[in-house]
Amino acid sequence: MDGKAIEGVREKLAKAEKVTVLTGAGVSAESGVPTFRGEEGLWRNYRAEELATPGAFARDPELVWQWYNMRREKLAPLAPNAAHTALAWLERKVADFTLITQNVDGLHKRGGSENIVELHGNIWRVRCTECGVIEENRDVPIAIPPACGECGGLLRPHIVWFGEMLPEEALSAAYAALEGCAVLLVVGTSGLVQPAASMASVAGRGGAYVVEVNIEKTPNAASVDTMLVGRAAEVVPLIVGEKG
Ligand code: NAD
Ligand code: ZN
Repeated sequence: MDGKAIEGVREKLAKAEKVTVLTGAGVSAESGVPTFRGEEGLWRNYRAEELATPGAFARDPELVWQWYNMRREKLAPLAPNAAHTALAWLERKVADFTLITQNVDGLHKRGGSENIVELHGNIWRVRCTECGVIEENRDVPIAIPPACGECGGLLRPHIVWFGEMLPEEALSAAYAALEGCAVLLVVGTSGLVQPAASMASVAGRGGAYVVEVNIEKTPNAASVDTMLVGRAAEVVPLIVGEKG
């Protein structure tokens, strides 16, 4: 690991009054959560893009819920890793801190983060397709088909599926966090899924110092001031200065 680069990032973070972090599936990889683009992306020969869609749910809600039950079963025993807890630690040091995540696994909250913008929803929440009520549901497995306690309507995962709009509230909170941040830390996201893919350049244009942590180069590279190649659970604790 490049000690000088790490030291440089630590200094930027120590001085920054507004810090924003953007995370993707890679931050949870070391907790054992599979990334969609990894080898574990397939289930019964379906790709996530074939199941996490409004069309798939309309055609076969039971199939889609079975897939979510499989994912709930895998996620339930997993714990936050050193990257999640280091980001929670950073939040306590910075006056104005926002963590934007594309993850739906809820591990940032369990790791101690508080000001979280969940761009894609949360796998532990359900939403009624009839009355719109949103509630937490941690059943593993969830009874299929799950019914709304208020109106009896079919429940769906409270997740943004392929082809759906991101919630307006989450988007505006994310852009407010990107605006005027001194440092943007991008961790474990492929830079392929919009709008997160353009957030590094949005923050960079606004004057932020952009740092990326990933095990490989991503399309963000052009907007990044410091690229740290490595595993999130190793690199993030080093740059937030939690250790050493
Ligand atoms: P992605 O799967 O497209 O990319 C993951 C990125 O993480 C890659 O760039 C990879 O190189 C990097 N990476 C893998 N292991 C890493 C590690 N140990 N340390 C640092 N980086 C590592 O994920 P994405 O960009 O978040 O987009 C995928 C979509 O899939 C999102 O919409 C997200 O909602 C969803 N998803 C979420 C979860 C989750 O909640 N944990 C898991 C899979 C997919
Ligand atoms: Zn309802």
